Amino acid sequence: MHYISVAVPVPFLDRLTYRVPERLELPPIGARVRVPVGSRTLTGCLVRQDADAPEPDAIKDIVDVVDREPFLPAGVVELCEWVAEYYMAGIGDAIAVAMPPGARARATSFKTRQIATVTAHGLAWGQASGQASGQGPSLTPKQGAALDILAAAGVGLPIRDLRERGVTRDVLTRLATRGLVTLTSEPEDRDPFERASFPDQTPDAARELTPEQRAAFDQLVALTDAGTFRAALLHGVTGSGKTEIYLRLAKAVHERGRQVLLMVPEIALTPSVTALFRGTFGDRVAIQHSALSDGERHDQWHRIRRGDVDLVIGTRSAVFSPLTRLGLIIVDEEHDTSYKQEEAPRYHGRDVAIVRATREGALVVLGSATPSMETYQNALSGKYAYATLERRVLDRPLAGVRLVNMRAEYADQGPDVIVSRDLTAAIADRLGRHEQVLVLLNRRGYATAVFCRQCGDTFECPNCTISLTVHRARPGWRARCHYCNYSMIVPKACRKCAAPYLERAGFGTEKVEEQLAEAFPDARIARVDRDSVRRKGALTSLLGRFAAGELDVLVGTQMIAKGHDFPRVTLVGVVSADIGLGLADFRAAERTFQLLTQVAGRAGRGERTGEAIVQTIYPDHYSIQLACRQDYRAFFERELAYRRAMRYPPMVALINTIVRGRSFEEAMQTATEIVRRLEPATSTAGLIVLGPAPAPIVRLRGEHRVQFLLKGTKRAEMRRALETALAGMPHVRRRVTVDIDPLTVL
Ligand code: ADP
Ligand code: ZN
Repeated sequence: MHYISVAVPVPFLDRLTYRVPERLELPPIGARVRVPVGSRTLTGCLVRQDADAPEPDAIKDIVDVVDREPFLPAGVVELCEWVAEYYMAGIGDAIAVAMPPGARARATSFKTRQIATVTAHGLAWGQASGQASGQGPSLTPKQGAALDILAAAGVGLPIRDLRERGVTRDVLTRLATRGLVTLTSEPEDRDPFERASFPDQTPDAARELTPEQRAAFDQLVALTDAGTFRAALLHGVTGSGKTEIYLRLAKAVHERGRQVLLMVPEIALTPSVTALFRGTFGDRVAIQHSALSDGERHDQWHRIRRGDVDLVIGTRSAVFSPLTRLGLIIVDEEHDTSYKQEEAPRYHGRDVAIVRATREGALVVLGSATPSMETYQNALSGKYAYATLERRVLDRPLAGVRLVNMRAEYADQGPDVIVSRDLTAAIADRLGRHEQVLVLLNRRGYATAVFCRQCGDTFECPNCTISLTVHRARPGWRARCHYCNYSMIVPKACRKCAAPYLERAGFGTEKVEEQLAEAFPDARIARVDRDSVRRKGALTSLLGRFAAGELDVLVGTQMIAKGHDFPRVTLVGVVSADIGLGLADFRAAERTFQLLTQVAGRAGRGERTGEAIVQTIYPDHYSIQLACRQDYRAFFERELAYRRAMRYPPMVALINTIVRGRSFEEAMQTATEIVRRLEPATSTAGLIVLGPAPAPIVRLRGEHRVQFLLKGTKRAEMRRALETALAGMPHVRRRVTVDIDPLTVL
């Protein structure tokens, strides 16, 4: 009798134990099985074959086996188990991120196409009728023509293509009933590359690596020789040619018969990178990210699973791709916050990549111009190998950075200035020279608030303690909550006092776009933020138009700061560089430094020198000063001293716990009880509990929130302590969110 552990897609459930009845064969790890859960039958994934069965009588039989072969490779199942344990997530949630869309359905949903093939009988008939000696009822001219086309092709033809040649389905059906033609369906991969607006790039074989690139490449490629786990940081300034090194490393690993996973932070970055890698890997490239349709993602996943792919490019969830011969994982822009999933399971794609590489004996290369504090410290301590590129390719200079002190600007020009005189003049200058400009403001919308000038009433979200952001709507204005998506039309008069004096305050990307359009009526200006790229394919299309020179100015949020390579951009303007610094978050300075360094890195990547103009009200803040000098090392030292003094990561480990409740009192009571249960551990495991306290957003989506932080040096013990405390209160588990290694505590 076999007992197995199964992960089912139900939040918070641990593995469930089932019996495999005699009539069924024991399926392998990674196979899908149908199991009873309560009154339902669900599709789960077999994670262990020899489960303990202390109470065999209480154990139910599985209903059915879906796969005889592993659906998920065993290595991926183990990785999911690690994720569930480390991040304190349910195993079902962890398995779910590794599954392709549609995996819970009984049959997998390939798109199929119908093929018509002439039969031997049909061939004989065609020849016979050609000799005008047919038997039986003769064919109509259309049927005869169809048979001729199929006979000439010699292979089956898609019905879709036959229709274009004047052969209707009706004609084919009639031929099929007479046994002259067979109609079959075959699976067809939906191809996300069809839509890609970037043509494949043939690699420039003649391109020589710069001496710096050569040294870094030699150092990294040597690490692939061992065939065992290694981790390396490739620390290269913006425009130093990291992508070229990725490409050559990928090629080297591929030549040794192993597969490559390239992780990128932003979906928008995949088309150009994909085009580059397809130039080398041809069709054996798959992409995995959430902007693909379910059908495309499903098909790409199955291509990987079948082994038809040597290179996968994708965003964070691509770390679970069903590769079985992995030799290299590249995490590009490893510092990027989008690698962290902010819903269950709350994993960090980079950290999971390191764990996966460890288990599969692969090399993991973390690339960045602004490595995270954690990664750089690991490189300094020797835990990771360290390769560095200190210069841009072809000795192009880094963009010079000029600061504009906005306090002085306000004093001169009044408090409503958004784009300073210096930045306006510089934009005019570039437009005159037919060069391109990026303008960054990391805040979307038109205005940040609405208030009544008579009674002071403001518009807050009814579900969240958040002020509504104003967006231009046609016609009029709409106020929207960026957290829960609640929205309302902004009325003409105050809801409280009926006075017609509603005013908008603050500004976002929409307003900057409007001001630039007024100042430069002839310029071709577009905006890139979450609102403007909501439509599928919009972001790729906007970036493609900018790259093709059809736009002069792009205004946008951090979406425009990441990895793009636009050689004609010679000016980057940053409006309100200090937005992030106002937040009470321990990573605020790090984020600001990274964003400014990255965005300045977008300028001057072509033949002409670039410049960045940074507007700020804190021109003396170290993160802004050091980003201007592009002095990573100085920033790291300064920031590390702060983290050490305040006991923040990477000096200590952090777990953020948020307790939600119908009322604030209820949430606070629950949190207090959990913290009380943690007390024994605080004395023995050397961990500190901060809180409970109201969370920074104390009400979110209608729920009240209380938070406490665990700080310590031993992550496993911290986790165990919290698990023990929560185990005694199973009824509250659903209202508790645990964030291990949080990127933000807001
Ligand atoms: P990074 O990712 O480090 O910011 P990229 O890889 O985007 O930099 O490279 C910057 C630019 O330099 C790209 O346009 C790339 O094609 C070009 N480039 C890279 N390596 C070389 C080289 N060895 N010779 C000439 N151009 C190069
Ligand atoms: Zn809201």
